[in-house]
Amino acid sequence: MYFTDFDFEDEVLDALDAMRFEKCTPIQEQTLEPLMEGRDLIGVAQTGTGKTAAYLLPVLNKLCRGGYPEDAINCIVMAPTRELAQQIDRQLEGFTYFMNVSSVAVYGGNDGQRYEQELRGMAKGADIIVATPGRLISHINLGNIDLSKVSFFILDEADRMLDMGFYSDIMTIAKQLPKERQTMLFSATMPQEIRKLASDILTDPLQITLALAKPADGITQQAFICYEGQKLGIINSIFDNESSERVILFASRKTKVKEISHTLKKHGFNVGEMHSDLSQSERDEIMFQYKSRKIDMIVATDILARGIDIDDIRIVINYDVPRDCDDYIHRIGRTARAGTKGRAITLVNVEDQEYFKRIEDFIEQDVPKMELPTSLGEAPAYEPKSKLKGGKSRRGGGGNKEKRRGNDRKRNNRKRGGKAAGGEKQQEKPQAVKPANSEKPKETTPVAAPQEGAPKQQGEKPKRRRPHHHRRKPGNAKGAEDTASVTDNK
Ligand code: AMP
Repeated sequence: MYFTDFDFEDEVLDALDAMRFEKCTPIQEQTLEPLMEGRDLIGVAQTGTGKTAAYLLPVLNKLCRGGYPEDAINCIVMAPTRELAQQIDRQLEGFTYFMNVSSVAVYGGNDGQRYEQELRGMAKGADIIVATPGRLISHINLGNIDLSKVSFFILDEADRMLDMGFYSDIMTIAKQLPKERQTMLFSATMPQEIRKLASDILTDPLQITLALAKPADGITQQAFICYEGQKLGIINSIFDNESSERVILFASRKTKVKEISHTLKKHGFNVGEMHSDLSQSERDEIMFQYKSRKIDMIVATDILARGIDIDDIRIVINYDVPRDCDDYIHRIGRTARAGTKGRAITLVNVEDQEYFKRIEDFIEQDVPKMELPTSLGEAPAYEPKSKLKGGKSRRGGGGNKEKRRGNDRKRNNRKRGGKAAGGEKQQEKPQAVKPANSEKPKETTPVAAPQEGAPKQQGEKPKRRRPHHHRRKPGNAKGAEDTASVTDNK
């Protein structure tokens, strides 16, 4: 299905066109129409599937048509981490390029200037707030934000937010919202706690489950079965013969990240570290340095495993085995993005063998085990004991697609008046990278990091409208191959 098959306003289609979004991904195919009709929705889908566009586009289309207050916050998008909030905000920036819809990202950090910008943005009534729960709560507690007019409430990576202990914060926020609203909850998994949250805050939701993507074909997976003390030697040996550029090394705990990064620096590696103890400006600086190739390798906690679009990562190293099978897929999915090739190397100590076996079962692949360099001595045997419970199984059923409307585009002139939400930000031309499994050519230039705070002011931008016939015809872009199942809880 193509975006032009849906009843989108010209402003939305123009932005999609400029971003080279033509064909819908499976999650978009399944969710756009019910969301445009106003249904509450549970979307079981992970990052990389195109879920951000799936939930933002219907909201933007409605805001674009008008009928919503112009001096109030109309939509709240909640995300677990600052990085994901920034990424959503960047996509929003692209999607709203041709329309009078403003947004502000509210995600914390200790920078006073940024706080002021957030305040200004909220006071001026940005249409859309993209927020992390902690920061939003602190603004609510200080009376900085009026949520009484919100029509759309979106929770992205809800499972992650609950893992991080935000259940009660989310409930506190939900209680501030009008009962009459549209709520969308996206989550990679559906544990009991998420079901409970969903039943607390959604009304009669449609559930769409996207089958978990297997690791992309372009990723060569390898494992070293080893003792803990051999891990550093393995890393040294990997980079004896090749460059350590464009590498991400994951470790589960931030203490471990700091320790490894310190040791690798001592061994002469050009390394940056990323974990939740860093301030926002420090995190931004590390990402900037990595993207601009000033540092070769990032050592990170799972904070970087999701929601981060960096295109050309060559190697992902799991210094330890993630406890959660999803985290493994998210971590290794940082490489071989958009049809390129990459390597994912996991260092498996004796204690982690069972966890690694569980991952192998989950992805239904035996990961090749590499020989240790002889200088490092004997490796332990790979003898995982099956004392762990089986991996989560949450693969969706295949292809039960809802009947779709094949409607023509309507041109309608119900445009929103230019809203004066007061922001200083200049927008970059909208850009996109393609979602996992898409074969569509992609932009490789990363979008500019958003300036933090103030709502993006679309009202003052010149409208760069292309005549309809200049719009690219849908090409042969292939959407993600995941299958989806639809559960109508009605
Ligand atoms: P998400 O899962 O929302 O983080 O999306 C992953 C990436 O895919 C983002 O960089 C989007 O810009 C891109 N993307 C999403 N949907 C499409 C689409 N239909 N066509 C091309 N790119 C897309």
